[in-house]
Amino acid sequence: MRLLERPLPTPEARDLLDLTRQIAAERCDTQTVNRFEGEARFPREVFDVLGETGLLSLPYPEELGGGGQPFEVYLQVIEELAGAWLAVGLGVSVHVLSCFPMVNYGTPEQQAEWLPRMLGGRTVGAYCLSEPDSGSDAAALRTTAASTETGFVVNGAKGWVTHGGVADYYNLMVRTGGPGARGISCLLAPAGTDGLQAARPEQKMGMAASPTATINLDEVELPASALLGEPGEGFRIAMAALDSGRLGIAACAVGVAQAALDVAADYASTRQQFGRSISEFQGIGFLLADMGASIEAARSLLLDAARAKDAGRDFGAAAAAAKLTATQTAMSVTTEAVQILGGVGYTKEFPVERYMREAKVLQIVEGTTQVQRLVLARALTS
Ligand SMILES: Cc1cc2nc3c(=O)[nH]c(=O)nc-3n(C[C@H](O)[C@H](O)[C@H](O)COP(=O)(O)OP(=O)(O)OC[C@H]3O[C@@H](n4cnc5c(N)ncnc54)[C@H](O)[C@@H]3O)c2cc1C
Repeated sequence: MRLLERPLPTPEARDLLDLTRQIAAERCDTQTVNRFEGEARFPREVFDVLGETGLLSLPYPEELGGGGQPFEVYLQVIEELAGAWLAVGLGVSVHVLSCFPMVNYGTPEQQAEWLPRMLGGRTVGAYCLSEPDSGSDAAALRTTAASTETGFVVNGAKGWVTHGGVADYYNLMVRTGGPGARGISCLLAPAGTDGLQAARPEQKMGMAASPTATINLDEVELPASALLGEPGEGFRIAMAALDSGRLGIAACAVGVAQAALDVAADYASTRQQFGRSISEFQGIGFLLADMGASIEAARSLLLDAARAKDAGRDFGAAAAAAKLTATQTAMSVTTEAVQILGGVGYTKEFPVERYMREAKVLQIVEGTTQVQRLVLARALTS
């Protein structure tokens, strides 16, 4: 249950949220989630349904083939999906991130070739910035793209790629010039390109159904038309994409936290100890109160940042604050939810242990908690 019901901006947004809840209920039920997570299987069929219903391209302009929805609405869709299944909610957020360079930096020719597929709901994309030796210090990346007569030849490895091995295309941040951020360019490579190979997915503590893999790049030949933006503009593109992407991760965090609170509140009102329901003990009731209040605070910050973006205002620092706050909230709320359920909270009988494992990754991806603080400290002192 939410402490505050917020009005949606349009009846269309209400319909989209209803549709999302329906798909989540039908396709992301606990049995399905447990099966796919247990088998570490990517739920491509869920993405196909989301694509068919237009939910994979909501925040992009209608004239380019997107849903034309405000970010404020898109993020609430992500929240719903993530609360049902983080591998799906985060997957949609990563797909939207993977469309960002083409939507914002592609030429009309590149867009004509790619956007019908990217925004048409038939593909899933990947965004490859991290490398095994460059995570938080992303500008130190080492994968190279040397110029050839016809385009580029790429060599290196991108690490930690969400959808690695199942994506239809890969945005590759690669070094085309000298050291530092200015030597980085953004290339787009279709899956199946010779020399582009996904390694075995990482064995993670959560989100097993969302494959995360190193993408090895061995003499990968790409045409000149693979370049998005100008040579040397890749890092700027990557950072701009992350400003928006961080809001998606914050929305995932709010979704996971709300799901955990719902289970904990329900359990607390039915579980009896010492002759009464445990929710009647102040120690538990106050825990639930703090969980609800911190979720609403995170959601407000997230939606305010989204509205700033929708209004064309600067929102980078607000996005970092939203990501920092929402992911810390998700971590603490899911941990308390396990506590409120006691022994069964630590078992797979209830989903709160999964939520707790899922919450952790949100403090790491798309800039760790510490990196968000760096962004905020810089904004406050510049
Ligand atoms: C499940 C999963 C999916 C991912 N998906 C993608 C993806 O699709 N695309 C992609 O490009 N990347 C992806 N990543 C990578 C992710 O973005 C990085 O893991 C993250 O940026 C941190 O980098 P790192 O792991 O190398 O940690 P490091 O940068 O080595 O950091 C280690 C620790 O040091 C801290 N630290 C580093 N620098 C500083 C500093 N200056 N001040 C204070 N503390 C600091 C960090 O906060 C962290 O706690 C994914 C990661 C995971 C786990």
